[in-house]
Amino acid sequence: MKLKNLLVVLAVIAVLGTFSYAVPTKDDKSKDIERIDFIHYAKANPGKPAKTETCYKLMGVKWTGLPVVYAVNPANPQGLSADFVTGAISTATETWDAATAQELFSDSYGVDYSAVYGVRDYKNAIVFGDYPNNGVIAVTSVWYNKRTKQILEFDMEFNTRFSWGDATVDPGVMDLQNIATHELGHSVGLSDLYTSSCTAVTMYGYSSEGDTIKRTLEQPDVTGLQKMYGA
Ligand SMILES: [Zn+2]
Repeated sequence: MKLKNLLVVLAVIAVLGTFSYAVPTKDDKSKDIERIDFIHYAKANPGKPAKTETCYKLMGVKWTGLPVVYAVNPANPQGLSADFVTGAISTATETWDAATAQELFSDSYGVDYSAVYGVRDYKNAIVFGDYPNNGVIAVTSVWYNKRTKQILEFDMEFNTRFSWGDATVDPGVMDLQNIATHELGHSVGLSDLYTSSCTAVTMYGYSSEGDTIKRTLEQPDVTGLQKMYGA
């Protein structure tokens, strides 16, 4: 990135302040590869769940080699069982799979205790970890080739500063399936939405404890997915 462009980006970030944003950063391995981080902030749902058909936003990049194989590292400091973690995440992947004719995510995910977040290692890692911001629920990083518009890899991290679990059992926790479904939307090419008319869709950019509304896709989420991968 040229210094001038970098300064513009930094200025924009400064103006946005605590508002959510996605930050593209340069990958040093290839001039064509870029990384974008989607940071999911905690905030109560601000409005009535109205939804409009335009409540989806494409990143402009997508997977071309399907299905996407992913690796779950179920290690977490709260003692959630590996079965619970992998169950919540695989249910979330199946939710997206069911909305397109293509096999989007592999049914045979790997449990991999060596999987780490944020490393471009050709492993689509889904992990728990300490993200140093109490307001950040989760982050998904997507690496893509800006020339071919192909997604190359994603990594996802659930911030252990929150209590995770099944919010249908305990509304005081951050619902793992709910947040995983949202973050998986980024991993296949959908961006966040922050407008108040879009609070009901899965790709709405804020969540809070007890929220399970993102577990199921709304029509705009499906429309966005099908624009990329077909009906
Ligand atoms: Zn998001």
